[in-house]
Order: sequence, then C-alpha cells, then structure tokens
Amino acid sequence: MADVLAAAAGLPVRLVRSLDEHAAAVLALAGPLPPVTVPLADARGRALASDVRSAVDLPPWDGSAMDGYAVRASDLRPGAVLDVADDVPAGDTRTLRVPAGVVVRIMTGAPVPEGADAVLPVELTDGGTGRVRIDRVVAAGAHIRRRGEDVRAGDVVLQAGDVVGPGAVGLLAATGHAEVEVHGRPRVAVLSTGSELVAPGQPLRHGQIHESNGPQLAAAAAAAGADVVDVVVVPDDVAAVRAALADLGTRADVVVTTGGVSVGAYDVVRDALLADGGAQLVHVRMQPGKPQAVGVLADGTPVLALPGNPVSCFVSFEMFVRPLLRRMLGARHVHRRALTATLASEIRSPAGRRQLLRARLDWSTGSPVAVTVGGPGSHLLGALARADALVDVREDVTHLAAGAPVAVIDLREHDA
Ligand code: AMP
Ligand code: MG
Repeated sequence: MADVLAAAAGLPVRLVRSLDEHAAAVLALAGPLPPVTVPLADARGRALASDVRSAVDLPPWDGSAMDGYAVRASDLRPGAVLDVADDVPAGDTRTLRVPAGVVVRIMTGAPVPEGADAVLPVELTDGGTGRVRIDRVVAAGAHIRRRGEDVRAGDVVLQAGDVVGPGAVGLLAATGHAEVEVHGRPRVAVLSTGSELVAPGQPLRHGQIHESNGPQLAAAAAAAGADVVDVVVVPDDVAAVRAALADLGTRADVVVTTGGVSVGAYDVVRDALLADGGAQLVHVRMQPGKPQAVGVLADGTPVLALPGNPVSCFVSFEMFVRPLLRRMLGARHVHRRALTATLASEIRSPAGRRQLLRARLDWSTGSPVAVTVGGPGSHLLGALARADALVDVREDVTHLAAGAPVAVIDLREHDA
C-alpha cells in the first residue's frame, strides 16, 4: 500500500517492514569475520574462533591451601611434638618426600611433598621452625588442592563464540595460552550528513548544531567490539555523500551513515544510495527510527543508513547495527539481554508501531523498575546519557498501566 502511494506521489519506493523483519535483513548482510591469532593482551572483547583446551591440569600438582605443615595425618596427636625437616615456600621446584614421624613447613601455593597427606594450618600449632607442637589435629586430605580437581589437561575450557572477558583472560593464562584464535574485529566507518553540522568545540551560528551522532555512533561501535576506522562529516550534497561512501567502503567492513535518509528535499543519503543502486529504502514500523536504508555499496561493503535524529540514531544502532557487528565479531549472542521490569508510570504507544523508550532501571527494590526518561521526541538528547535500558512496547500495545510488567532491553555491557 505504502509503495503504491509512494509511486503515485513520485517518491522513491520504500519497503515497509516490522522491526524484526528489518533486523533479520540487516543480520543477513554479513557473517563472522575470518579468524586471526592475537596475543592474550589483545583478546578482551573479542569472540573465540575455536574451542580452547587446557594445556595443563589445574592445579598442575597437589598444593597447599594454607600456611602450615605438610604432615601424615596418622602422626598427629594433640600435644605431640614433631621434627620440622624442611621449609617449602611457593615456587619451590624440588620434589620432596616426607618420612613418617616428621613434618615439613609449607606455605600456601607450595607443592605438597610426597608422603604427606594433609596440611596442618599453622594456627593449630605453636608455629615452631625446628620442632613443632601440635595443638589440634586434621584429617587426611585436609587443606590440599588436588592436581586436576579444577581443570584437566585437554578439557575444553572456552568455546568458539565465547566473548573473552577478564575472567576468560585469567583462565586462558592459567591454562597456558599466550595467544588465542579470535574473529577479526569489524572495521566500521561512520558518515554523518547535514549542512547544519558543526564540530563540537566550534561556536554555533544560528541554524547550526553540534555534530553528535558521529561521536555517538563511534562510541557505540567501539563498545560493541568494532574497530572504528573513521568518522567523516559531509554537508547535504549528493556528490559529496557519494564520494565519501565510495572512499569509506574501501576502508571498512561496514559503513554506517546518519541523516538524510527521510523524505525531505535534501535527503542526500537516500539520493546517493539510490543513484548507486544496491540499497533499499525502508519504512520500519517502529518509533523512533522509521526511515532507514540498507544494502551494499558498489564495492559490496554493507551500508546501513540511520535517521539523523539523535535518539532515532541511538535506537537504530542498538536494534540493527550492533547485532550485525556482534555477528561479524563472531559472538554467540548478538542481542542484548532482555529483562522483564515493572513500569514506574503509565505508557501510551502508537498502534501498529513497535516503540522503544529510553529508560533507567531502578534496582533499589531488588527487581528492576523501568523509569522512562527523556520524553517521546526523538530530538531529545538531554536524558540519553541516563538511559541504561529501552522499554520495548509491541506493535499491538497502545497502553500500559503503571506497575505493569514490561519487556526491556538491558543496554549495559556484559562479557559473555
Ligand atoms: P535528518 O535525518 O537528516 O532529516 O535529520 C533529522 C534531525 O536530526 C535534524 O534535526 C538534524 O539536524 C538532526 N541531525 C542529523 N544529523 C545529526 C548529527 N550528526 N548530529 C546531531 N544531530 C543531527
Ligand atoms: Mg539532514
């Protein structure tokens, strides 16, 4: 229907899609990037390209969990005094043996000598160095960390598609990996369009605004794990947009544009993409974020054209660009975590459009309460920094009462 009307009005044809349909079409643009091997220090935030197996048992040998004495439990009696044969600090690489009737002083993290079957904590003794008096006893097996009780050599400790967080970095190091095979990071180029745009830091003349979507998109792409190769700003000039797109396509795996994709007279991204073919204008049944375009540039590089209103741009990145970047990064989970929260105040929502409202989650009661922030206008930037969630209102829902359960998208970063 919209297509027929558009054609009749002489406007370029736009596909009409639901948010989910458009998100699926965007995700189909690219798959995971080829694997690369990186040093462990560069692995955080990247997705593993293959399963990782441990090179060693963890712990690698039976070790002491306490400062105290390596003993045979059967030698222990309250009040007994035993000879201390040796001292074993952490890092001692000797293979020692404890004869019956004597003990060895041992520190946390040191290897337990053969013959010993327990560690007697120093607190249960007089702490002697030549001879030690036993105050209380322990059973066989006490305070020994057994070889392989945590991880066995050859065990798969991390799987392809896992995104490496700090805990995984620790595990990789402990299991003997100095480098790791991950997927490449998607190279993202950002193109901001608008003759009204002035760089932040420059004074504004009447009719001008600071360029904020470029920095916003660059930050969002970096947070998603991408490598931002450039942020370029061009005025509303079709030739300038075409030249910039052609250049950025050669240097990026994905080009993201903002502005100029609507139905106005100066919507130059729309005109540039239509002139070069390969992209499709879309009317997405969502709010904010209705006008979009998606496709490939002449050189085959995927291009996503987002609307210029800063809130629309922010939400569109979340719903379309971020999942694609996560997919290219090789992450198993490309979508944000979804939660159910309680609405703090009532919501009215347009029929037939999926609505995404900026919200702050209040966890003070223990379960999340969604407090919408910033108002419905997609130009309202004031509260954007406070939003850590999007309330997700289905197309067919027009009203939700205060206290109602509501689906929210958690915008906080999680390593997973
Ligand atoms: P457009 O999608 O080009 O029609 O722009 C919609 C609104 O968003 C207009 O008010 C623009 O001035 C504003 N806008 C477009 N691009 C940017 C940008 N990069 N930074 C801040 N605001 C922008
Ligand atoms: Mg514009």
